[in-house]
Amino acid sequence: MPEQTVLVVEDEENILEAIRYNLEHEGYRVLAAPDGEEGLTLTRQDNPDLVVLDIMLPQLDGFELCRILRRESDVPILMLTAKGEEIDRVVGLELGADDYVTKPFSMRELVVRVRNLLRRSRTPAGRDSPPAPSSVLSVNGLEVDVDGHSARLDGQPLPMKPREFSLLALLMENMGRAFTREQILERLWGYDYIGDARTVDVHVRWLREKIEPVPGRPRRIVTIRGVGYRFDG
Ligand code: CA
Repeated sequence: MPEQTVLVVEDEENILEAIRYNLEHEGYRVLAAPDGEEGLTLTRQDNPDLVVLDIMLPQLDGFELCRILRRESDVPILMLTAKGEEIDRVVGLELGADDYVTKPFSMRELVVRVRNLLRRSRTPAGRDSPPAPSSVLSVNGLEVDVDGHSARLDGQPLPMKPREFSLLALLMENMGRAFTREQILERLWGYDYIGDARTVDVHVRWLREKIEPVPGRPRRIVTIRGVGYRFDG
């Protein structure tokens, strides 16, 4: 596999260096930008495979840069958000960021999310394309055959409605990534759907009743407060 390049836009030098060290250790080439302007220049110049983007930045802030990058490219964007600032996560995802980690984060978490995002973006037909034929997703006894439109739990067939199936497949394919209700509505019901975000909640509840050992204390499809839902395994 060719070396992949990650651009890190972060003005706090110790965080930047820690991220650089850990990503280089994982075999990535790392470019660093201490402010938003430089981040924009480097993205245009070096066409990185992924951008790690802090929100509070001198010159151009992370939201503004995210907005510009989204207009210009499909590069995956991982946002660094501050603890307790739920609004940052929502705005970041709405602006087109692909995922986020909340400060203070562990380097292990960051590396896992970077790796997941890069894996998703490497699918031949593009990052938001449907999965390849006969792709079977399998996590902790839960098996979803996207092509065959069937699911099994611990080897037993798991009947579900088409929309439940699509929701489960979407979340599983993007394990570790949070989706807002609006994003889920768009993906599953289409842009034209004039719907209520609670539709998503209802489908998540039905899914939980089928796949969670304790539906009232979900561990597979978790609720991210102020954001939406994430499949954790
Ligand atoms: Ca900062």
